Amino acid sequence: MVTRGAATQDDVRRHNLARLLRHLHERGATSRSELVAFSGLNRSTVGVLVSELAEINLVFEGAGSAGQVGRPSLMVQPVAESAIVVAFEIRVERTIVALVGLGGAVLLRKEQRHRRNSYTPEAAVRNIVSLTAQVLAKAPDRAAWVGVGVSVPGIVDHTDGRVMLAPNLGWVDAPLGDLVRDALMAEFDVCPSVVVNNDADLGAIAEYARGVGIGARNLIYVSGEVGIGGGIIIDGRVMMGAGGYGGEIGHMVVNPDGVTCRCGARGCWETEIGRDAVVREAGLGGEQVEVEDVIAAAEAGSRRAEEAIQAVGEWLGIGLANLVNLFNPEVIVLGGHLRLLLPRVSAQVARRIHFALPAAREQVRVEVPALRGDSTLLGAAETAFDALLSDPIAVFEDSPHAVAS
Ligand SMILES: [Zn+2]
Repeated sequence: MVTRGAATQDDVRRHNLARLLRHLHERGATSRSELVAFSGLNRSTVGVLVSELAEINLVFEGAGSAGQVGRPSLMVQPVAESAIVVAFEIRVERTIVALVGLGGAVLLRKEQRHRRNSYTPEAAVRNIVSLTAQVLAKAPDRAAWVGVGVSVPGIVDHTDGRVMLAPNLGWVDAPLGDLVRDALMAEFDVCPSVVVNNDADLGAIAEYARGVGIGARNLIYVSGEVGIGGGIIIDGRVMMGAGGYGGEIGHMVVNPDGVTCRCGARGCWETEIGRDAVVREAGLGGEQVEVEDVIAAAEAGSRRAEEAIQAVGEWLGIGLANLVNLFNPEVIVLGGHLRLLLPRVSAQVARRIHFALPAAREQVRVEVPALRGDSTLLGAAETAFDALLSDPIAVFEDSPHAVAS
């Protein structure tokens, strides 16, 4: 009889398989020697584990990259076509879907616009089902469908995927995780794990694992969309707070004389640097106007557009200095439209961060995302792979294969 709580040999084997596959998924082609060094396991154990993963085609061993001197060593590589996830990024005015293979390869990506203010959770779920069918139809033959990840610009209970509040979508207490699961089940008769998370947390997760945060332990991702969100990673873990609602940096009050926010408070950071603020200050109205249009107007000589950008730069720097003092991050990543604005306002940002306490400000770098505009989408894919990467063989064998064919 197995004693409750004691790790069996099988538990250890599964744990080691999971560690190796996660390493290969995040870092790509790796030699057996590097796997031995990384895992602390002996060479023959690594050999057995790699064979086990290769047997079900999650990895293969092939010659290393060209350009190496001497005999090319064998590299263990994840097979992108073996296991796939479907990742969604729900924004205020568009939904983005990606089919992502093991190792993080984006096999397919599509965008679909929708009307602001009329996108209900039910409409989002209908879209998710139809987009899932479209991308699965293009999935590699025999791929295992191991997860669905959804990003939402709002406060999410990540244990069950319930969206507590997404002010810029107008969603309150929407059980999105359950709705997506039930709808996919009704459509396909099968459904892998569905995970719903906050957009900025996902941006942080992706940049930490695969982007400008590689090697750092403390990172803040600031998502710049209609709203401003924050994903905060402290010592390698996403900061959640008591109920999972921490990190709402967009609602730090920075300007008590400012305008009223969607949350009801006045002068939130979001009302000074969010997309609507940039467009409003530039004197350009309308749902279709993007920050790119404001930048183009400034480049074409519009003084008002240029002044709007510079004003946003000041408020951006003020908020960032607060974050530096509060969290002492090594990296702050500016996503969304903030990524586009940073090169034009880097002087203001540097000047404002200079007012942060010296010890903390000397350790921080402010970066644009390495994953460009897709940090959040790829973060949703990362969390969708979590089930497979926690127990590779069992989840791979339980997952639906070739659903759409
Ligand atoms: Zn607010």
